[in-house]
Amino acid sequence: MALGTATAPYELRFDTGRVCLDLLATTHPVERLGSVEVLRAWITGSGLVPPGTPLAHADLSWLVGFRELRLQTARLVRARPAPGAPPYDRALARVNDLARGAPPAPRAVRGEDGVLVRELTGPPLCVELLGAVARDAVDLLTDPEARASLRQCEGDNCPIVYVDTSRGRRRRWCSSEICGNRERVARHRRRAAVSRA
Ligand SMILES: [Zn+2]
Repeated sequence: MALGTATAPYELRFDTGRVCLDLLATTHPVERLGSVEVLRAWITGSGLVPPGTPLAHADLSWLVGFRELRLQTARLVRARPAPGAPPYDRALARVNDLARGAPPAPRAVRGEDGVLVRELTGPPLCVELLGAVARDAVDLLTDPEARASLRQCEGDNCPIVYVDTSRGRRRRWCSSEICGNRERVARHRRRAAVSRA
């Protein structure tokens, strides 16, 4: 998914490989979902809706809903508290409940140049979008291969969890431009300090 210019001012990232994990990443390094405006940009940037889908009807209740799904999904992905503990089981019940909501229905329509483009049959409802993210979480957590490829970034204090689909499963960072680059800079500094000593 390309990073649209609409998402750039908010420093939103979509590099975990799964929409439910991209949602978790919005707490790092600071709360990104601080306003409905940013949530709209996140929804568009995540690919949950086709580009240009009107989201003016999104309000504060959407922000509350997405943050709550994020909290519950984080409990399941990080398995903290452990499975079987009441908060884990409550999170499971909540995500399952949200996953019952069907995602917004897409349709193919002819664009200006006659090429088919995807659009929604109507303005998406919050419950439909939460449903799409919750279903992604259910799919991820019940897919043994995907679950085995879950990694936490090796960057200092970086909590971002991603699915490692790289060849040989050697991806170490949430992003080579961010945490990977930070590590390269730190290594360079250490080497420079040693050669000065
Ligand atoms: Zn990282």
